[in-house]
Amino acid sequence: MALRPYIVGNWKMNGTRSMLSEARAIDRSSQRLMKVEVAIAPPYTLIHPVHREAEQIGVGAQDCHAEPDGAHTGDISATMVADAGAKFVILGHSERRQEHGEGDDLIRAKCAAALDAGLKLIVCCGESEKLRDAGKAEKFVTGQLKATLPEALDETSERLSVAYEPIWAIGTGRAATVEDIAAMHAAIRKLLVDRYGEEEGGAVRILYGGSVKAENAREILETENVGGALVGGASLTAEGFLGIVAAAAELQDT
Ligand code: PEP
Repeated sequence: MALRPYIVGNWKMNGTRSMLSEARAIDRSSQRLMKVEVAIAPPYTLIHPVHREAEQIGVGAQDCHAEPDGAHTGDISATMVADAGAKFVILGHSERRQEHGEGDDLIRAKCAAALDAGLKLIVCCGESEKLRDAGKAEKFVTGQLKATLPEALDETSERLSVAYEPIWAIGTGRAATVEDIAAMHAAIRKLLVDRYGEEEGGAVRILYGGSVKAENAREILETENVGGALVGGASLTAEGFLGIVAAAAELQDT
């Protein structure tokens, strides 16, 4: 059975306790839109407070360390975010790759640590504009996923989501075209089926991320092989985010 569309807000390095009212509003409205799975990944400092507020939405982390504990000043482990209430973790986001030099090997190790801690994964991939212009986007993105995704995992389709986020579309207001999204998601689906089999690989949700907002959510979400959205800027207010959740819910009714 197909999983519900998955709409995930990535708050990045935004939010102090004053933003809990947005989380509360998102949570309360999501209770009326049960056909959609809604989640927020706030900064570490807000994971527990959002978890305490949330009755309906899922709460996750934006990263974790590859080790469960130890001498890693300033770092946070998968066990710690799970203890704070996180149910999933976003790994391999292009901002982590660019700003912290994270490579595929480290991301694969973080995936293993997160699974050991009982977390679900959202594994990100996406090409630069230069690679797209050179016609190398698909090869690059599938290469990233081959190198980072676990070889096998229990209940794959429940535990894993993939987020395709072209770097040039993140925070630019310039989302990828539905044609480009459809082509990339088809390539990712093939990889998932090859790795996890028809049933499990066929059911993994492939989220699109990159300048999704209420205005373009419907056309993106109705594209083949799009199982949801990873949303940055538009997830910072309940109004902006709920417009996207509502678009996903409407599509479930059609
Ligand atoms: C993101 O960085 O995960 C993202 C999709 O950002 P935005 O929606 O702001 O483009």
